[in-house]
Amino acid sequence: MPLVSMRQLLDEAAAGGYGVGAFNVNNMEQIQAIMEAARETRSPVIVQASRGARRYTNDLFLWHLMQAAVELYPEIPVALHLDHGNEPATCISAIELGFTSVMMDGSLEADGKTPASFEYNVAVTKEVVEHAHARGVTVEGELGTLGGVEDGHGSGEVHLTDPDQAVEFVEETGIDALAVAIGTSHGAYKFSQPPDGEVLKMSLIQEIHRRLPDTHLVMHGSSSVPQELVAKVNEFGGALKPAWGVPLEEIQLGIRNGVRKINVDTDSRLAITGAIRQVFVESPETFDPRDYLTPARAAMQALIAQRMEGFGQAGHAGDYEPLSLEEMSERYATAAARA
Ligand SMILES: [Zn+2]
Repeated sequence: MPLVSMRQLLDEAAAGGYGVGAFNVNNMEQIQAIMEAARETRSPVIVQASRGARRYTNDLFLWHLMQAAVELYPEIPVALHLDHGNEPATCISAIELGFTSVMMDGSLEADGKTPASFEYNVAVTKEVVEHAHARGVTVEGELGTLGGVEDGHGSGEVHLTDPDQAVEFVEETGIDALAVAIGTSHGAYKFSQPPDGEVLKMSLIQEIHRRLPDTHLVMHGSSSVPQELVAKVNEFGGALKPAWGVPLEEIQLGIRNGVRKINVDTDSRLAITGAIRQVFVESPETFDPRDYLTPARAAMQALIAQRMEGFGQAGHAGDYEPLSLEEMSERYATAAARA
């Protein structure tokens, strides 16, 4: 099947009461790991690429790798999503390339660093929604800012999402999904100790979901940073500082409260790095990249399959017929006419 609209994946997840992992990719092995994990667990899945990933791969390599993925795994519904678009032009170029979903992150200005005003955020997000929905493409917005900096993106400041503003933001922009800031950060160092309700505000998700029951919520920076993965990297010569992520139970609590998309990148990076370091330390005579990329890919696949089971998307790949982007654009037009 061709790439599917992310909106449809999230609508189905809401109907089925589960979440869908959105996994970042930068190369062929990561795409293969995700697709194999999806086949193994029969999961619909979101593959996402940041601006940094698009630069690293060059758009055309990324696009054709994803074409290979949908050809080779016809039974898996896959959405291709732009992670943290910094300005409308970035989102529009992704849509032109064939992405079925884009994030317009207007919580920051176009430099990807300076926290933006609410009015600016509404204006740029609305502009992208109008362009995207006319083409059947999904839009995720963000209100509030996450901690941490990833791929050069982030202010480093945490501004929690205000529930009142969230309602106004969704009404004014018409977005399909809302990324909320609840205290999570990008990168490996999310928390300096296992997080409690003071630093990870799951109660905020419950409040936003109560006010916006029909908006799909997105948790960014939601790697769990398993201690065994950190330990493995360090065992084989790495120098990671103690790091904690978002425990799976907290994510599952979010899923019971309207979270439909869960972004995971750091965990994949840790799995890959641990596997490669192990080969380098245990078999220093190795110099064929396949000798370390094969176990790296397998480690990421195992991690992703675990997440798919944990988020509840496993077993749901065959639940529905994918809608075309044309059908999605007609749906948006009909909904707009009724409003
Ligand atoms: Zn993010």
